[in-house]
Amino acid sequence: MQDLTNAFVELIRRTSTDLPGDMELALRDAREYEAPGSAAQGALDTMLVNQEMSRRLSRPICQDTGTPIFEVHYPVGWSTRALAAQIKQAVVIATEKAYLRPNAVDSISGANSGDNTGTEFPTIHFHEWDEDVVQVDLMLKGGGCENVGAQYSLPNAPLKAGRDLEGVRKVVLDAVQRAQGQGCAPGVLGVAIGGDRGASYAFSKQQLFRPLGDRNDDPELAALEETIKEQANELGIGPMGFGGKTTVLDVQIDSLHRLPASFFVSVSYMCWANRRRSMIVRGEEVTYQ
Ligand code: SF4
Repeated sequence: MQDLTNAFVELIRRTSTDLPGDMELALRDAREYEAPGSAAQGALDTMLVNQEMSRRLSRPICQDTGTPIFEVHYPVGWSTRALAAQIKQAVVIATEKAYLRPNAVDSISGANSGDNTGTEFPTIHFHEWDEDVVQVDLMLKGGGCENVGAQYSLPNAPLKAGRDLEGVRKVVLDAVQRAQGQGCAPGVLGVAIGGDRGASYAFSKQQLFRPLGDRNDDPELAALEETIKEQANELGIGPMGFGGKTTVLDVQIDSLHRLPASFFVSVSYMCWANRRRSMIVRGEEVTYQ
């Protein structure tokens, strides 16, 4: 099996320092939409200058380089233990090169491991598939936006949210309202309906890998994605909470089967520094998206 350690380091560098094109475009569009000279427009201008400098200088887009979350899709015959070891080694090298801030802290002692490794750190999920290529998707999930993620168990009496899509709409908007600017808006929302608590949160985060504007195949969920996006942007929270028309750049929803007794809705909030990239390994060739 080939050694992909250096390729993983490059994946981390690109993810940490080069905002995806769809995010940059969405921030540029939002900038034009905000009132000229407003704090909202100023915040978006700062983000755009920031991401341009980060790309040019190969420096992290934000000081919090987040939790590295790797989703590894691999063909039959690859060793997941070997891939995990290469990913961890790449994380150590990327930390030495300052593409990542040392972010792994022992929850009991408070000690920082110094190299972004620790118990279940980084996060790595493996998925065997039928393709003959390896695809590795990486997300760097910032702490501030992670803190404003939320999970609801429906029905929710205070919000008058029942076990239906109208209930889902109410709780997702509640999560945005509670977050205010603390998730470093404008954000992107990944929403999971159903599952148990753990699966629901993990699935909501997987929605954040979808490109902006991607709509669910289910017309009802696609319509809900549009409705929540529109209504979240009517809340007036705006970029970084300064007020304005742009609170979220997109909303992406999908559903899981659930127990009859449970109806969870999980909301993962991704900040404007929406760092996600993919790497494809086809034979000896490695490409990045
Ligand atoms: S939430 Fe995002 S933009 Fe804000 S500090 Fe954290 S990583 Fe940076």
